Amino acid sequence: MKKYNYNKSHRRNSTPWDKEETLSCTQKLIKHNYNKEYDDAHTSLKTSGEAEFLNEMKVTKCHWCFSNDIIKNGKYKTGIIRYHCKECGRNFNIFTNTLLDHHKLNAYEEIKNMLDIFFGISFRSTSKIQRNSPTTTKYWFKKIAIASKSYLDSVVLKGKVYLDTTFVTVEKSQLITNSNKKLRGLSRNQICVLVATDLKHILAFELGLGKPSGEKIAAIMDERIEPHSILFCDEDNSFNQLSQEQKLKVFSYNSKYLKTLDDNSNPIQPVNDAILLISDFLGNHKGFKRDELQDYLNVVCINNIKENNKLDTANMLLEYILNNSFECEKTLKYRKYYEKVKK
Ligand SMILES: [Zn+2]
Repeated sequence: MKKYNYNKSHRRNSTPWDKEETLSCTQKLIKHNYNKEYDDAHTSLKTSGEAEFLNEMKVTKCHWCFSNDIIKNGKYKTGIIRYHCKECGRNFNIFTNTLLDHHKLNAYEEIKNMLDIFFGISFRSTSKIQRNSPTTTKYWFKKIAIASKSYLDSVVLKGKVYLDTTFVTVEKSQLITNSNKKLRGLSRNQICVLVATDLKHILAFELGLGKPSGEKIAAIMDERIEPHSILFCDEDNSFNQLSQEQKLKVFSYNSKYLKTLDDNSNPIQPVNDAILLISDFLGNHKGFKRDELQDYLNVVCINNIKENNKLDTANMLLEYILNNSFECEKTLKYRKYYEKVKK
């Protein structure tokens, strides 16, 4: 496969005429706008004017020890309010120990990355559009995935719940073949994904290779469906244990019968739609590392909360990161993340 050839020394706001003394008027025109576009997209927090908005956010707890005994203590060069904790004696700001810790660029840049990801644009294209390095885009995706997971962890489906499984083929290099033919059916080449939706939220979980046991399904959905909800599913699947444990009323259908129905009359169509959203999203990131499958699933789920516009979702996630992130897995340090990925 052709590797993305990103030249590290290449500055993403450079033009071929940077060292030239005399530029033609058209070269000047292009250079002026090309640089301006870059500068607008990559303003520092200091010059972006965002501090004003960020300073309006209520900070009630120390980002180090969670004590409420905090006071304002001037501002940083970026214009962001500095807080001081009387309990632990440390200073902090709104980003400290969140996923945006050590953030020097404008926060809106991250929102743009988020939106690109939500719109299903590949990392490679996002990097090109935003003139970021591909590693920056990927790193930000990981942050979104962490925040999404943390948010989704508290989601409990209720009312009518639709459930099914789908499969994702392992990476090409991992395919087990039988004398050069692909294994068929629910082979060891297929990663099972459990998908559930109550029309407001979608939850999706990677269950490992091959057909999952009922026990595994019940364990992963433990406390994720409100008791006495109504479950709509395919009778071939191993959902019995789940429905019994969570006291669900079940409507299960023969899969052959379901196949004869069109989408409008299919009683488990909502979960089919959710599966389609997942496969579309994964299709936009072909060749993704399968050990990061759950990250991708979390991002699809957060991106498809019903009635949320993409901007609503980006706003919700930004607010969530700024308010709760110190509870959600601390900071993801850039270098640390890449040490892990390179292995
Ligand atoms: Zn403190």
